[in-house]
Amino acid sequence: MTSIYFDHAATSPMRAESLEAYLNTAGAGPSNPSSLHSFGRAARSRVTAARDAIASLLSCSPSELVFTGGGTESDNAALVGAANAQLARGRNGIVTTAVEHHALLHTCHNLQEQGFKLTVLPVDDTGRVSVEDAAAAIDDKTAVVSVMAGNNEVGTLQPIAEIGAVARDRGAVMHVDAVQALGYVQLDLANLPVDMMSLSAHKIGGPQGVGLLYIRKGTSFRPMLLGGSQERNRRAGTENVAGIAAFAAAAKLAEAERELRCRHAEELRQSLLTELEQAIGAESFVVNGPADSASRLPHVLNMSFPGIPSENMLMNLDLAGVAASGGSACTSGSLKPSHVLSAMNLSRDLVASAVRFSFGLGNTTEETKETAKIIATISARMRIY
Ligand code: PMP
Repeated sequence: MTSIYFDHAATSPMRAESLEAYLNTAGAGPSNPSSLHSFGRAARSRVTAARDAIASLLSCSPSELVFTGGGTESDNAALVGAANAQLARGRNGIVTTAVEHHALLHTCHNLQEQGFKLTVLPVDDTGRVSVEDAAAAIDDKTAVVSVMAGNNEVGTLQPIAEIGAVARDRGAVMHVDAVQALGYVQLDLANLPVDMMSLSAHKIGGPQGVGLLYIRKGTSFRPMLLGGSQERNRRAGTENVAGIAAFAAAAKLAEAERELRCRHAEELRQSLLTELEQAIGAESFVVNGPADSASRLPHVLNMSFPGIPSENMLMNLDLAGVAASGGSACTSGSLKPSHVLSAMNLSRDLVASAVRFSFGLGNTTEETKETAKIIATISARMRIY
């Protein structure tokens, strides 16, 4: 039975090195980093080693990193923490884009209900926000600007450095969701005008339920999770020590292999497109998002098969052993029309027939060839209009 996993943007298989770090740490005995005894100190030194390793990959200080329970928590904590801290300084504006992840958008809407003034910037037909639009929206009342580095549905890269420079100039906090960009884009925090950044371990071969929030020194921030002072008063709760050690192991690999990951993903993308052109003809599908490789993440390929509803395509792919995902990739259960594709102003037909393939290092061109054949069979059977 075919078994092809093309859903790495949803979650990626754990790398052996990461799993080993997890098991070694989890199996090392009881240890809470907040305890003063030797067991606690051992746990704390594991967290410290992981923090140091990731800080050096991102060119920031270890003291600027807070471990979280994943990208969703990082996004929530960043927006809530920065917005509330900035409110005390008379700033009540939030500026974001229409194509952010729901972890971010839902948090923004929640803050809006509490009285913050929300501006959601439009994007062009490739999913990119314009620096001019952002500059027109950011003013001296803006508390936080949040723009993702690379989009999870279509891969579009955003001009975060340019928008960050405007935000900095006007005294607003710049937050970037870099959950999908890590391991594909160099995130050099020493040279990026970014004050906060969200990351997640499970998109790069680390464990699920572990993330990071970078908070640049001096950024005003009010913690969202209150309790013990584990993460230096910025996030309470016992750390996921094994998960954190495993995150560091995965991050080291992802950074060391960044170029290889990009090259490999690009090759798989091109292969699937070429094979599909041969199998069903270029007129039978549309690629959504930027075409040129400099404007997008390499591992996310979003395409529409007009006339074949996403649900039908995905179900048939699944029956044939191919795991891909639908439009609004993070809405479990039923497929809702993608807010990202809708914001890109794609026709309803394209939105309703969108499928996302996302690649990882373990994938091969044999798999893309096999998938193109499977899609050809499904297309011949399923096209309903
Ligand atoms: N932001 C983006 C861009 C994502 O792709 C995801 C994962 N779908 C998240 C945030 C949420 O991360 P997590 O799954 O770790 O909560």
